Order: sequence, then structure tokens, then C-alpha cells
Amino acid sequence: MWNEGRARPSVSQRYFAISTHEWHKTHFPGIYILGECLCDRTGRMLKSLLIRLSESAELRHFAEESSFGKRLSDRFAAGTDAGEALNATRRVNATGANVTIDNLGENTATAEAALASAETYHGLLDAIKGHGLRANISLKLTQMGLDLDTNLCQELVGPLVRHAALVDNLVRIDMEGSRFTQRTLDLVQTLHGIPGNAGHVGAVIQASLRRSEADVEQLLNQRIRIRLCKGAYKEIAKVAFPDKSRVDESFFELSRKLLDSGVFHGLATHDDQLIGKIQKHVRKEGIDRKSFEFQMLYGVRPKLQEQLVREGWNLRIYIPFGSAWYPYFMRRLAERPANVVFAARSIFRS
Ligand SMILES: Cc1cc2nc3c(=O)[nH]c(=O)nc-3n(C[C@H](O)[C@H](O)[C@H](O)COP(=O)(O)OP(=O)(O)OC[C@H]3O[C@@H](n4cnc5c(N)ncnc54)[C@H](O)[C@@H]3O)c2cc1C
Repeated sequence: MWNEGRARPSVSQRYFAISTHEWHKTHFPGIYILGECLCDRTGRMLKSLLIRLSESAELRHFAEESSFGKRLSDRFAAGTDAGEALNATRRVNATGANVTIDNLGENTATAEAALASAETYHGLLDAIKGHGLRANISLKLTQMGLDLDTNLCQELVGPLVRHAALVDNLVRIDMEGSRFTQRTLDLVQTLHGIPGNAGHVGAVIQASLRRSEADVEQLLNQRIRIRLCKGAYKEIAKVAFPDKSRVDESFFELSRKLLDSGVFHGLATHDDQLIGKIQKHVRKEGIDRKSFEFQMLYGVRPKLQEQLVREGWNLRIYIPFGSAWYPYFMRRLAERPANVVFAARSIFRS
């Protein structure tokens, strides 16, 4: 039986080809021991290492071009083209959950690549509308050229938000490492302030950042929709809380603010304890459960996803697709270093 609790590796049969402890002990004793060690300090060091590796251009190039890469990326992504992402969206919608589609890509190196990503997103907005799917889009500003030229980025993202407004949809601007936080929030606020755009562009706040409480206040003043997550990037202690329990506390406190705001927000976490605490708060305060949504990543804790939908909570699944999967994939490994086990198995089998 698959165990989704905290104590044991919570990997799903469908997405992660990991079996029981016993199976690993017998077939891959080295990997088994590695997996066991990952829970403690070694785990934290590995997490740091994986995040650092996620930023390596050389490894990214190697992994994305290699033959086993596609198989690895399948664990967390819905394929390499938009058609596959739309099919996955249809399947997820049929389960009762909504979707946000992410065309994988970040730190785009050329204006042409940024333009191509923007075109892909325009196509997605039309396809979502055309097929009557319950989905919006998520994008990263460095994918739209933020690192190359701020004006280019604004010229690409502005029309996407306009397009989303015309088809009554939403562009969610993902949050990247803290060196981009201010510029990302500035752009979201600028675009949101353009007549006709309000409600069609949303921000992401990372509970791990010390600045987030102030950022939430500012975004709420403009009634901007927020996705709250813990934060997937390696940050220094001056910028982010180093202690996981402090991050969890911050997530809960910020969730309460969002739930009180009267704006529709997304609470993005797979943390069942945190979700339980939020649900308890919602019930206690008589908050309408339809006034917000939980959000989770495609392929992560599918049983918990099913349970939320079954119990009548709004849920949105983040579906990534595309060939630029490496940094996204590595951050998923870092979030749950036991995932390294399945990655290693895939490599050894190829
Ligand atoms: C919809 C969505 C959008 C996001 N957008 C952003 C963004 O824009 N910017 C950003 O910095 N971060 C983003 N994140 C990632 C987020 O910041 C966290 O890194 C990630 O969600 C892991 O934290 P957690 O809240 O699930 O809690 P954790 O405490 O890390 O995990 C809780 C439990 O969930 C399980 N779990 C968590 N991650 C995984 C995984 N990858 N594989 C298997 N099990 C796992 C583990 O069993 C763990 O016990 C997003 C996350 C989601 C769900």
C-alpha cells in the first residue's frame, strides 16, 4: 500500500516508479541507504546541492539533450508540446480539478526564444477558450526575457494579460529567486493597473521570504490575486527564513490574511498538516470554501489531490510541459530528496 504520510517516502505508484522499502533494500541497497539518510542533515545538504545544480547551464544542456532526459521529465511534466498539456488538462478537469498550464522555460537566452514562448502562451489562451477547458496560464518573467531586457519582457507579457482579459482568463506570474522579486511584483502591479486588466493577472508570494508580509499587504491594497507557496529557491538567511517550521508558520499566517481579504487566492502546498490547519481555520471562521483554492503540482501527491476534490475543496493543478524541463525537475527533486531514488533508478535502467 502506498503511504502518503510524512514519516515514509510519499511517492505515488502512478508517477514515481518507487516501490516499498523492502524492494529497495533487496534490489538497490545503496540507493535505499541513501534514501534513508536524506531525511536529516544529509537531506538538507542534498537539497541545497540540488537547487544549486538546478542553476547549472552545462548540466541543463546535457540533461535536456540526453536520451534518458525525456523519461525523467515525464515524472513531473505532461509532455513536450502544447497538445499533450491540453490533453492532460482535459483529463485533470474531468477529475473535478482546475488547471494552470506552464510552458517550461526560464532564463531565456535570446529575444527570439522569449517571443516564441509568448506565442505559445497566446495559442494556449485561445485553445483553453476554444476547448472550454477550466485552466489558466502560469509563466516566468525570465522566460519572457526579463534577464535580457525589461522592456522586451513587458512588451511580451503586456499583450498576454490583455489577451487573457479578452478571453476572461488569468495570467499567473510565477515567482523566481529573490533577485527578481521586486521587478516581478512591480510588473504585476503595473499590468494590473491598466484599465481592463484588473483580475486578469496574478502574483505569487513565497512564504519563506522575510519581505512577504509587506508584499502581501501591498498586493491586497490593489486586490491582486495571489498564489501563496513556500518558495522553491535557495536564499540566504538575510532574505528568507532558514527554518522550515518558521516557513510553515509564515505560510499559515499569510493564508489567514488572504482568506480574510475577499479576493480569490490560491494556497499552493502539498503539506497535508498545513492544509488540515487551513481547513480547520476555514470551518471555524465560517469562510466560504469556494472563495479560494488549493493548488498542487502535477504528479505530486495525487491521492491527496483526489481527496481534496472528493471533499469539495477547490483544487488547481499546475501542469508543466515543454523541453526545457531541467531546472523545474531539479527543484522537484530538491523539495523531496527521496525523489532522487526514482531518478537514479531511471538512469540505471536506461
Ligand atoms: C501550484 C504550485 C505552484 C508553485 N509555484 C511556485 C512559484 O511560482 N515559485 C516558487 O518559488 N515555488 C513555487 N512552487 C513550489 C513551492 O514553493 C514549494 O517548493 C513546493 O510546493 C514544496 O513545498 P510544499 O508546500 O509542498 O511543502 P513541503 O513541506 O516541501 O512538502 C510537504 C509534503 O509534500 C510532499 N512533497 C512536496 N514536494 C514534493 C515533490 N516535489 N515530490 C513529492 N512529494 C513532495 C512531501 O511528502 C512533503 O512531506 C509552487 C508549488 C505549487 C504546488
